[in-house]
Amino acid sequence: MIIGKSKKELEKMRAAGRLAGQVREHMRGLARPGITTLEINREAEKLIRDAGALPTFKGYHGFPYAICASVNEQVVHGFPSNYLLRDGDILSVDVGVTLSGYVGDTATTIPIGSVRPEWLRLIHVSEECLALAIEECRPGRYLGDISSAVQFHAEAQGYSIVRDYVGHGIGRKMHEDPQIPNYGKPGTGPRLKAGYVFAVEPMLNLGTQHTKTLADGWTVVTVDGQPSAHVEHTVAITEAGPEVLTKVVEVVDFESQLPPLEVAART
Ligand code: MG
Repeated sequence: MIIGKSKKELEKMRAAGRLAGQVREHMRGLARPGITTLEINREAEKLIRDAGALPTFKGYHGFPYAICASVNEQVVHGFPSNYLLRDGDILSVDVGVTLSGYVGDTATTIPIGSVRPEWLRLIHVSEECLALAIEECRPGRYLGDISSAVQFHAEAQGYSIVRDYVGHGIGRKMHEDPQIPNYGKPGTGPRLKAGYVFAVEPMLNLGTQHTKTLADGWTVVTVDGQPSAHVEHTVAITEAGPEVLTKVVEVVDFESQLPPLEVAART
């Protein structure tokens, strides 16, 4: 059953989403050649706890870390480790926060240093797929409209869609109904209503769609070793259209960048 959220609940989900987005952007700022994914995990966890929230992933079905850090051919659920990020890597970070009882969930894939163009394009198209999927998050559309938006664009651009992992409803729990596959047919599945909140998360592979799980029981990799990109936002469906709860708008300090205002002298 898809659980619709009240205005009051949506207010709390906004706060959780904002924090998750801030943590994601903080991780983007940290990610560079020479840093370990464990260091990024430590910083993210500190930021979450300092904000009075809990890292949702930690302890979830026994997952041992605050974030997932998935490098190159790792698709999702990678363990942060002592691996030193290298120039040319791509790093997917995924983070969930629980604030005042509600969850925000977001992910992005970050190029480390100078990344080869084919890999950058994979990330770029994944972001486009996410944007197209979010556009479908409106009352009256169907769940299949979200799924097919991702699939159509990804496949038209020559990428494969991971089918083993999907997006999800989100609220008090990280994973609520419905499951949101990144493939499907328009006009199928449940009709979308204002108050639904979804974690939409395209996962695109450069090579085959097929994945396998490593011996740690968590880390998912592509079977052909080709890279994978993963991007995710928590999105509320409102009467006015999609509201991206994990979007963080960078505040630009315009005043310090602009020349002093020239005030024309009064004559
Ligand atoms: Mg998710």
